[in-house]
Amino acid sequence: MAVMPVRKIGDPVLRSKAQPVKEINTKTENLVENLKSTLVELEGLGLAANQIGVLQRVFVIKRNNGEMLEFINPEILQKEGNKIDREGCLSVPEREGPVPRAEKVKLRYQTLTDEEVEAVFSDLEARVIQHELDHLDGVLFVDKVIDLPTASY
Ligand code: ZN
Repeated sequence: MAVMPVRKIGDPVLRSKAQPVKEINTKTENLVENLKSTLVELEGLGLAANQIGVLQRVFVIKRNNGEMLEFINPEILQKEGNKIDREGCLSVPEREGPVPRAEKVKLRYQTLTDEEVEAVFSDLEARVIQHELDHLDGVLFVDKVIDLPTASY
């Protein structure tokens, strides 16, 4: 397990599309462990493989209860609702902004034990998952920040 340096905006790896994991093996285990230890160290909510320079479709999140969860080859099956909330990113220091996201997502993914899981996530966890999934497609939250209409008097 190692804490890895997090790539910052401007690094082309953050703009590259990650490839599906073909076989879950010790390399995948190491990747997940590195993602988890880096996320814990930086006190973030989620971290995608691109952010530590690996173009594989893997990310981890920290759940509301503190549990860490890995997502391998994640796919969104269904989205529900829409909510605008402020977002930030470990790869985009000192910036945040309002981003619209679905409030609820149904996801299919694999775990390290090669189980295929279908599960529903909502609220903050759903937001973090959509943010991390974007990373795997080379998309950053700054691409999706909207300008809130200013009140006119
Ligand atoms: Zn991010």
